[in-house]
Amino acid sequence: MNETSNLRIWLIVGSQHLYGTQALQEVEAHAHQVASGLSESGNILLPISYHGLATTPEDIHRMCLEANASHTCIGVILWMHTFSPAKMWINGLKILRKPLLHLHTQFNRDIPWGTIDMDFMNLNQSAHGDRELGHLMTRMGINRAIVVGHWRQPEVQQQIDVWCRAALAWHDWQGARFVRFGDNMRQVAVTEGDKVEAEYRLGFSVNTHGVGDLVKEISAVSEKEIHECCELYDALYRLQPELRKGGAKHASLQEAARIELGLRKFLQQGGYKGFTDTFEDLHGLKQLPGIAVQRLMQEGYGFGAEGDWKTAALVRAMKVMAIGLPGGNSFMEDYTYHLEPGNELVLGAHMLEVCPSITDQQPSCEVHPLHIGGKDDPVRLVFNAAPGPALNASLVDMGNHFRLLVNEVEAIRPPQSLPKLPVARAVWKPYPNFQTACAAWILAGGAHHTCFSQNLTQAHLRGFATIAGLEYVAIDQQTQFENFAEQLRWKELYYGLKGMLQKSGI
Ligand code: MN
Repeated sequence: MNETSNLRIWLIVGSQHLYGTQALQEVEAHAHQVASGLSESGNILLPISYHGLATTPEDIHRMCLEANASHTCIGVILWMHTFSPAKMWINGLKILRKPLLHLHTQFNRDIPWGTIDMDFMNLNQSAHGDRELGHLMTRMGINRAIVVGHWRQPEVQQQIDVWCRAALAWHDWQGARFVRFGDNMRQVAVTEGDKVEAEYRLGFSVNTHGVGDLVKEISAVSEKEIHECCELYDALYRLQPELRKGGAKHASLQEAARIELGLRKFLQQGGYKGFTDTFEDLHGLKQLPGIAVQRLMQEGYGFGAEGDWKTAALVRAMKVMAIGLPGGNSFMEDYTYHLEPGNELVLGAHMLEVCPSITDQQPSCEVHPLHIGGKDDPVRLVFNAAPGPALNASLVDMGNHFRLLVNEVEAIRPPQSLPKLPVARAVWKPYPNFQTACAAWILAGGAHHTCFSQNLTQAHLRGFATIAGLEYVAIDQQTQFENFAEQLRWKELYYGLKGMLQKSGI
């Protein structure tokens, strides 16, 4: 995962010259304290640096230009400490391209009932100053997060953190490169999509390489590197006896290590943040990449099988959003159902490629035949996902816009052992219940490929969708099918119309 240590959030504080120099000095001192208080709270992933006091249209325009040009500023927090007439903000906000959070706070938590006078009132005016800015941003149609409450309150800081994580994932997507080895699985609809529109709207590029380019890199891996990698596997995982050194299938492990090392080199050299492959195009590869994909995902690379570049990009974004949080995020597929009435379950898995970040067990490293793709038996890590609250997210191309669909689920330990199932898996109960969740997902056109997350909430994904201009659709404990269907009809209209208007420059 890329280094975040130099990245920051900027705090720009609004005021005006009406109140005199001394008032502005106090505002500025407070702004410094708020920025450092938020940074030092330990509740927000990135530091907040105070960037300046905005008191004139020229200042505001300049600071917005600076934010756009900065490689380290991933988002801007605005707070109107006093009243700051919002017409001053028009030209700046018109050009600001960074994610925006409107922090509706006040320096003092409490009203000093015994001493409050008009000087205090004039200095602490965010109650109406922020409404003035809010009006303008709504009139201008600016997407932003709004966080309300005292800045020292942990809940407020946690909401800023949620936005900060979404802004970081957005920052990560801008200019990101994803590589596809081979094209889409033949005839599959939902994994297709408009890569030009994605690059224009979402900022990342998706380009293809013939699998031969990867094979070249894999062939160049040295025996020494392969040996070291096999030793690492032995140290980290429960290796099937045949796979160990001297075992009958040790050569399969060596081949898997060779694939992992070559694939990682290819991704590093190309500066890629994620990749897709397809079992229909493996020319020159001896195995379908299994453990290689699993371990690269754990390192932070996005992945989508069968050419699914949208899920690869989403897995990457969700891994970035979740930096430092306990639990994991993985490529996933709704695979098989348990349809016992009243206890319906979904078994999620894939042919091989589930990320070990979602397990609390030591994975077992195994080799088994794969009756798809016609290659040698691939090595894979096998484990159960940890139980607990989780969600599945799917990024779909609706033709005229992108939709982010999320279903909250409760992951459980498999009710019985699965001794013959040679792949990693997660078992969950979807909310609000199996019938509604599946019907709503299908009605919303959600994919069978998702990113399964144990550590992100709807707030993260909704925040991300707001920044990215994605339609956000949730299936959760409150979902009622008829309301959901009605909501989808309205959203179809809104996003369809919005896309058309944007294309005609309106
Ligand atoms: Mn699949």
